[in-house]
Amino acid sequence: MTEKIVNRLALIGIGLIGSSIAHAVRKKGIAGEIAVQTRRAETLERARELNLGDTYTTDPAEAADGADLVIACVPVGASGAVAEAFGPALKPGAIVSDVGSVKGSVIAQMAPHLPGGVHFVPAHPIAGTEYSGPDAGFAELFENRWCLLTPPDGTDPAAIETVERFWRGCGAMTEVMAADHHDMVLAITSHLPHLIAYNIVGTASHLEDVLAAQVIKFSASGFRDFTRIAASDPTMWRDVFLHNRDAVLETLAMFTEDLTALQRAIRYGDGDLLFKRFTETRAIRRGIIEIGQDTEAPDFGRSPHARAPQDGDTLGDG
Ligand code: NAP
Repeated sequence: MTEKIVNRLALIGIGLIGSSIAHAVRKKGIAGEIAVQTRRAETLERARELNLGDTYTTDPAEAADGADLVIACVPVGASGAVAEAFGPALKPGAIVSDVGSVKGSVIAQMAPHLPGGVHFVPAHPIAGTEYSGPDAGFAELFENRWCLLTPPDGTDPAAIETVERFWRGCGAMTEVMAADHHDMVLAITSHLPHLIAYNIVGTASHLEDVLAAQVIKFSASGFRDFTRIAASDPTMWRDVFLHNRDAVLETLAMFTEDLTALQRAIRYGDGDLLFKRFTETRAIRRGIIEIGQDTEAPDFGRSPHARAPQDGDTLGDG
């Protein structure tokens, strides 16, 4: 029998992540009712058509009223404004969480608007696709993916436990870590790869017409995977870079130094260095497969002999 973890769940924002939570919660029966909030009337109407919740509103306070768990599922840069809007409506003992891809900035933005007696357990499900909006969500998005929790020091352990149980109920694995550690880890594993993808696809789009057409035609040679990542939502990713600035700039500086070393090796014909580097990186790939975070099917799971590709197989997970 499925265990109900919260009575009233409020989803503030109902795009890819909010709607995937709604689908997972409905499928697993882990919440009594779902209050759906979103900014625009047309998105709200679409959420209603998709039957994502039990009540619908464009007012964050109305959704949060009486909720046991309120999850902000909006772009990182909008977290402070939505917390300011729903903060006064929170009942004592309510738990507030979020799904933002950056944690330090979200905590700084949201915490000042939360009244005493309310628990704040920020979280980040590391699962996603390059699609956005309420139509993009699906119940299995979080299956076997990590959800990282970054509660500020002194957070009630029972509230942390509830949020962990909630995410495990959605199919995820959970781990608790400090917000600044999260932001550094994600800068290298997610934010920098997205920046590189946006940049390389941007470079290709600046090529002269004939060359650009050839790049698209022969894209399977590696470029194609960058185009998928670079198709990710521009609002979300603008906010990620603006709000994880320090960690991204630090990792970008390290990346640039390493790139310069490779550039030198190519220029001076240092094959040993290239071979050594490319051998070391294969071990990382093996490690990811060994812990089950990707498939060893060839060609990124797209070979006719491999299983059908699934969302989350490659990047796109903010
Ligand atoms: P999404 O599909 O674009 O949905 C965004 C939601 O936020 C919509 O309901 C939208 O409302 C609302 N919204 C947008 N701008 C807003 C604003 N300025 N004020 C208030 N509400 C606003 O986005 P998503 O992919 O679900 O991402 C949501 C959060 O999840 C982000 O913080 C992101 O960092 C995090 N995340 C994303 C991924 C991923 O791969 N996409 C993975 C993990 C975590 P309207 O449509 O009504 O305007």
